[in-house]
Amino acid sequence: MYFVRKKMTFQNNNTKEISQELELGKRPIAIKVSNLVKRFDDLIAVNDVSFKIFEGEIVGILGPNGAGKTTTIRLLTGIFKLEDKANIEIFNEDITKNLSKYKINFGIVPEVSNAFSDFTVWQNLRFSGGIYGFPKEKVEKRSKKLLEQFGLIDKMHSKTKALSKGLKQRLNFCLALLHEPSILILDEPTSGLDPISVKLMRNRILQLKKEGKTILITTHDMLEAQTICDRILIMNRGKIIADEDPNTLRERFKSTSTIRFKIDGVLSNNQKNTLMDIFDNIKEEDNYYVFSSDDDIKDIFMLYNFSKENNLNISDFKVKETSLEEVFIHLIKKDSISKGGLEK
Ligand code: ATP
Repeated sequence: MYFVRKKMTFQNNNTKEISQELELGKRPIAIKVSNLVKRFDDLIAVNDVSFKIFEGEIVGILGPNGAGKTTTIRLLTGIFKLEDKANIEIFNEDITKNLSKYKINFGIVPEVSNAFSDFTVWQNLRFSGGIYGFPKEKVEKRSKKLLEQFGLIDKMHSKTKALSKGLKQRLNFCLALLHEPSILILDEPTSGLDPISVKLMRNRILQLKKEGKTILITTHDMLEAQTICDRILIMNRGKIIADEDPNTLRERFKSTSTIRFKIDGVLSNNQKNTLMDIFDNIKEEDNYYVFSSDDDIKDIFMLYNFSKENNLNISDFKVKETSLEEVFIHLIKKDSISKGGLEK
């Protein structure tokens, strides 16, 4: 059963990747940024960053603290002024000359909330709607719909400062979506939330994608990137060091998958030597045998044959595939070492 399931997963992933690529090629480019740079005195926080996001994609910017994620978002959304070489296109229109005109395309959930804490939930929405110049009826209709979608309707008359972190974040989403933007920019939207709120947010984000939104999200959370993003930009020290979909990223580092198992009873020296001949990097660790494999299906069959031929029983068998977290740590370490060591 195990083998069959595994093979099917690979086939599905390959097919999915090819169809995703074909599909993406047909879609318009929603965001195209070129040569973004931001300096803070001697520090280059964003160093010549360029990327594209296709319409309807969820793209995650993943990176350690201080990588430049928020600064990239702030350049993209006009909080920081662009340097001369930089360029931003939204649906093929150059926005660098008049960013404010195009800001209406963006719904932003910032790292620090911009809701007024002394206003009620409803007052915040009304105020925001007023800024966009929408008629009162339109704001109220849209606000109610959003409050229902985000499970906030019971809190509409609560003061914002009385809301829990999770509920405040739901309000931030409602505020970002009020003007029906086509692009959502989410700066660490699930950071510090409890697991139930995280799940609700991720489901809402996936629903928004289904509704056709293009979504750029920054996160530290590998699981988040792996489960909701179509593509991941890994950022370190102001630069994009990888731009791939989560499966391809993991596949690239598949060679590090680890097989760990126990053999009931004691192996003879002869049997141990045979095992070492088959798996040249095998080690004994706390009564377990462990080896890394670049073709786990083949190696599992070889191990199975070895156990049958030697009449041995294998117990507690595990294959640990490379997680996106391991890929991320590997890439960050490699990049940092090549630039003179990891930051303490
Ligand atoms: P985190 O995940 O911790 O939010 P980040 O990837 O979003 O990190 P940024 O906030 O973009 O990183 O910061 C990138 C670098 O720029 C950091 O070294 C940070 O200290 C520096 N930086 C950011 N904003 C400013 C500022 N206003 N003045 C001076 N330095 C800044």
